[in-house]
Amino acid sequence: MVSFGGWVRTVRQGKGVGFVEVNDGSCFSSLQVVVEPESPSFALLDGIATGASVWVTGTIVDSPGKGQKYEVRAESLEVVGPAPEDYPLQKKRHSFEYLREIAHLRPRTNTFGAVLRIRNILARTVHDFFQSRGFLYVQTPIITTSDCEGAGEMFGITVRSEPEPADQGAEREPGEFFGKPAGLTVSGQLEAEAVCSALGDVYTFGPTFRAENSNTSRHLSEFWMVEPEMAFADIHDDMDLAEDFLRHLIRQVLEEGADDMAFFDQWVDKGLVDRLRGVLDSSFQRISYTEAIERLQASGKSFEFPLTWGLDLQSEHERFLTEELLRGPVIVTDYPRVIKPFYMKQNEDGRTVRAMDVLVPGVGEIMGGSQREDNLERLERGIEHLGLDKASYWWYLDLRRYGSVPHAGFGLGFERAVQYITGMQNIRDVIPFPRTPRHAEF
Ligand code: ATP
Ligand code: MN
Repeated sequence: MVSFGGWVRTVRQGKGVGFVEVNDGSCFSSLQVVVEPESPSFALLDGIATGASVWVTGTIVDSPGKGQKYEVRAESLEVVGPAPEDYPLQKKRHSFEYLREIAHLRPRTNTFGAVLRIRNILARTVHDFFQSRGFLYVQTPIITTSDCEGAGEMFGITVRSEPEPADQGAEREPGEFFGKPAGLTVSGQLEAEAVCSALGDVYTFGPTFRAENSNTSRHLSEFWMVEPEMAFADIHDDMDLAEDFLRHLIRQVLEEGADDMAFFDQWVDKGLVDRLRGVLDSSFQRISYTEAIERLQASGKSFEFPLTWGLDLQSEHERFLTEELLRGPVIVTDYPRVIKPFYMKQNEDGRTVRAMDVLVPGVGEIMGGSQREDNLERLERGIEHLGLDKASYWWYLDLRRYGSVPHAGFGLGFERAVQYITGMQNIRDVIPFPRTPRHAEF
């Protein structure tokens, strides 16, 4: 005898027997519950509709029907919460756009159930991977007064009410709760570096916020980022780690999430599973930014954005490189200094830095990282060069003043990883409640 609760996907009657498909979210498949005419619950069937929650007690038996190995013969079937006819998820295919408008109900669909289960496997695997390699999980602040990227894409924090009279004029400006402008973090890297400079290899895994007004299928205003930082390490260690990490995530999902992945392979992105398997068996290609520009120029393909040494690669360039020219994940290194943040280590040539971006088909950039500048004078010059306020980086500079070490790290956009591995087209559909410009319902 088994008892379980779940939500009704469909109800039908055939040859006088009732069939109720119940899904409890634990896996992709629903369980077929058979209600015989003799059962006292049979009379209830008319009141059971798609979307209702039910509690089932019965026996698991071999299923004579097609499509499932087992079914449950119901002893009793109890409606816990009915669903009236206006239930928005009637059995038909809904567009992802429509489902975004009912983000509170979309976890009940096949696609979002699968996305959220894969996301869960990935989140746990992030911790497993780093923990098994001796990395320390560190929690960096969400509220910050330093803009890591220096790109001015931060959400500011203010208080709604004016300060108490006792505070006025004393230590802080009205509305500046922290005594100076503060915002939501765009990255935990700088603080992670501080802990790395004491405890060795560390990683963060938390929410980050970017007020960039880019309405693309790959940008969110709130997203999760995984940021490892390795001590006594250079750009090559960084690339090796990035590659091992991404492969490990793929391997684990293919092993643990096979049913959900088969769904994505069939309905969302044909050939997905084979493509991911291919990634497990080959190493990522590595080319310099300069080579990438040359290869792209030589391809003869015309792009919307200019392709000139010294300008950042646009998404269309990245996608063409990884999808058409190199056909697989690729690591692009040694970007021009002028397009990268101040903390990246300068190369001897004076024009490039030890940066590395990992690009994958279907998504483009999935990770961005670098070896960090560990030389105090060079770091100071970099900050000044960009017109940033050196004083506010006093503590970050201290890390180079006292016991500086070569170190390197990267940031993996967690939702981009979910996108890549599920084949889902839009980043808004791989996070339960997406935040994008003008959208923060739910
Ligand atoms: P992009 O050029 O795609 O905007 P970026 O260069 O701004 O990316 P980084 O600052 O290097 O990205 O951030 C590290 C990683 O975080 C990126 O490789 C990407 O996977 C992810 N990421 C960055 N911005 C966003 C965003 N707005 N939404 C979701 N993920 C993001
Ligand atoms: Mn960006």
